[in-house]
Amino acid sequence: MSNLAFAQRDLAVLWHPCTQMKDHEALPPVPIRRGQGVWLEDFEGKRYLDAISSWWVNLFGHAHPYINDAIKAQLEQLEHVILAGFSHEPAVRLAERLTHLAPPSLSRCFYADNGSSAVEVALKMSYHYWRNLGKTRKTRFVTLENSYHGETLGALAVGDVALYKETYAPLLMDVITVPSPDCFHREKGESWADYSARRFSDMEKTLAAHSEEVCAVIVEPLVQCAGSMRMYDPVYLKLLREACDRYGVHLIADEIAVGFGRTGSLFACEQAGITPDFLCLSKGLTGGYLPLSAVLTRETVYQAFYGDYATLKAFLHSHSYTGNPLACTAALASLDLFERDDVIARNRILAREMADATTGLADHPHVAEVRQTGMILAVELVEDKNTRQPYPWQERRGRQVYRHALSRGVLLRPLGDVVYFMPPYVIAPEQIRLMADVAREGIALATAD
Ligand SMILES: *Cc1c(COP(=O)(O)O)cnc(C)c1O
Repeated sequence: MSNLAFAQRDLAVLWHPCTQMKDHEALPPVPIRRGQGVWLEDFEGKRYLDAISSWWVNLFGHAHPYINDAIKAQLEQLEHVILAGFSHEPAVRLAERLTHLAPPSLSRCFYADNGSSAVEVALKMSYHYWRNLGKTRKTRFVTLENSYHGETLGALAVGDVALYKETYAPLLMDVITVPSPDCFHREKGESWADYSARRFSDMEKTLAAHSEEVCAVIVEPLVQCAGSMRMYDPVYLKLLREACDRYGVHLIADEIAVGFGRTGSLFACEQAGITPDFLCLSKGLTGGYLPLSAVLTRETVYQAFYGDYATLKAFLHSHSYTGNPLACTAALASLDLFERDDVIARNRILAREMADATTGLADHPHVAEVRQTGMILAVELVEDKNTRQPYPWQERRGRQVYRHALSRGVLLRPLGDVVYFMPPYVIAPEQIRLMADVAREGIALATAD
């Protein structure tokens, strides 16, 4: 079946995520019949380099033989079982390994089945913890400008990307939003560390004024991914950890996108040497194979819920597929690969290749900034380089880059006018150069007039 014939079947029944479906009149969805390593192959045999790891989930390429075999073996044993009242080897083994790998003191693992649900779990657990301690005035959350934590109503409420949030504003809980340490806004010549540290004064003031009513501060450590891949310095996390302790407020680290080696360390929090009170993990957790998420927390949090049933302190939250054995098995296999192949060290070399492949792009007359944290590199396009005036959003320049890249066999998916790379860790240097060259061409075309 041709791509077009299949697209017609698709468009007759499907409603795609994060899509204005009318856009498909001009550009039909690309049907994929096979994946192998960094490559996706469509119904007509054309290949696309997956430069965005299929929405930031894939770590070791598509159809990895080791992960495939692990899932096949588990499938013969047990596909799924209720996790309330029952247990199984992959869930326990994965909790053992995650609590061992995570920053110190995160000794408890609660499973859910997608990123947004993990954020909901962390928010509810934090609020409920304070309530169990008798601190019933604590009902609010603090978040950073330009942050993203998912699409369910609680997760959407603590996020701050207007495009996703504004429509639903009347449905959302009220949160306290603090300016971001995002280094795009630093002064000329100012270091990332100086700017991010300077930005902390707003957070300090907010906590000083509101700590009595605040349950937790939620942040995406180091990179605000859905918020245009904006980046900041680890010093902010250090200051935040210290202030949360001082004011008696939880710190929730949403590492759903940045966890598992994306930023140059296994977890981004490691670069600040901090332990959050809640660590939310998903996306790369299963190597990009199956939906799963986990919230890691401290023994003190766990103990605040522990007691006789009649005290009604228990955390009665659940999802049907919580801790699914196949998904936990994929996660265990992915962790094996981290150990076996010394992925973090290899990623440092790949990150350097990504920087080299994009040299000179920062001098382009319509590029405001090229920024990088580990295996994430972003190029921000603007209409006016000096004033950093963006292009009118209606012109959809980033979409022109997307279309060009597809025609050249690369899957780039700019966030607005921010072109970025977030490839699987098995990408080869020549593939990095291909991805960068195609982005360069796309940027030249999209900014030509
Ligand atoms: C993707 C993402 C989420 C939401 O995860 P889903 O699995 O898409 O619900 C939450 N937080 C961050 C930082 C994310 O990037």
